[in-house]
Amino acid sequence: MQTKMQALVTYGAHDYRLEKVDVPRAGKGEMIIKVEGCGICAGDLKAYEGGTVFWGDGKKPPYVEVPAIGGHEFVGHIVEIGPGIEEKETYGIADKDFKIGDRVAVEQIAPCGECRFCKEGNYHLCVPHNVYGFKNYLNGGFAEYAKLTKESLVYKIPEDMPLKKALLIEPYACSMHAIDRAKIGKDDVVVISGAGCLGLGMITTARKYDPKALIALDLNEERLETALKFGCDLTINPAKGNLETIINELSGGYGCDVYIEATGHPSSVKQGLEIIRKGGRFIEFSVFLDPVTCDWSVIGDGKELDMYGVSLSKGCFPKAIEGLYSGELMSDNVVSHIFKLEDFKEAFKQSGSGKGSIKVAFTFE
Ligand SMILES: [Zn+2]
Ligand SMILES: [Zn+2]
Repeated sequence: MQTKMQALVTYGAHDYRLEKVDVPRAGKGEMIIKVEGCGICAGDLKAYEGGTVFWGDGKKPPYVEVPAIGGHEFVGHIVEIGPGIEEKETYGIADKDFKIGDRVAVEQIAPCGECRFCKEGNYHLCVPHNVYGFKNYLNGGFAEYAKLTKESLVYKIPEDMPLKKALLIEPYACSMHAIDRAKIGKDDVVVISGAGCLGLGMITTARKYDPKALIALDLNEERLETALKFGCDLTINPAKGNLETIINELSGGYGCDVYIEATGHPSSVKQGLEIIRKGGRFIEFSVFLDPVTCDWSVIGDGKELDMYGVSLSKGCFPKAIEGLYSGELMSDNVVSHIFKLEDFKEAFKQSGSGKGSIKVAFTFE
């Protein structure tokens, strides 16, 4: 095995450097994978752009511990297995019995296994909340090799699954968790705001529940076309000004039953509070660059809403792997741009502009 590898190292907002670093080695309970590819998540992009969630706001300390290698949407082949891997604690949800050459995906969070939430099975809410790519002990997939720590939740994936599908396992697992939270029924008018990678994952997942109407909102017409192909009954560009009229027509004037916010734009929160019916379910998925302001009394006195937050992908990796592999979950053209690591500036720019791109990824093939 080579001893040096190419890696994109985070030193600070806008301070990402392409470096030759040591290939990690597997200690007790650890595995090393040769990375095939790694998607750029909205979170990676917001860290790159200097979001306060990641770099602190003067009061809160920064979440990112530098230097770190970014990226948590990665897959690869096992090239080294450390001692003691057979006794690995995995909280009963991930695979075991790994061998050299296995192709694997890893959950973004490496749960501590010790806190109240880990013990309850809500490992995605783990208090130390260590996510790949943001901590210097937990380097991610923006490198040729990555170390999977002993806490990590690792799953085998089929060898013949196309890389462009495999790169969607992590984001789609998050989309599926959002749909789990939404508890969609057959009589529901469901609005999904945002038809990027995650919104599309939600649409193709929600289709299985056969709601009365499944509607996607986006400002980008190209994305709306894809949303339609992925199973929406209707798409609406909110900039065209007829959103409320259409939702009222579909819902007898009451408003939508379920509103899933997946844009990360404050205006989408306000819009959701306006078009949702009384007693409706509001699902918040996004990470925002800055705090959002809205009329909070709509939630209580105004509409008695059920508010559900969504974080990460609790228990959804196995069904994301299966759904993507079988084709039950649509994924055509979602990974829209592939870059080499050395072109990272261009890759982040493409990912940020959203023009013509849905999911941007690095590959090492
Ligand atoms: Zn992600
Ligand atoms: Zn924990």
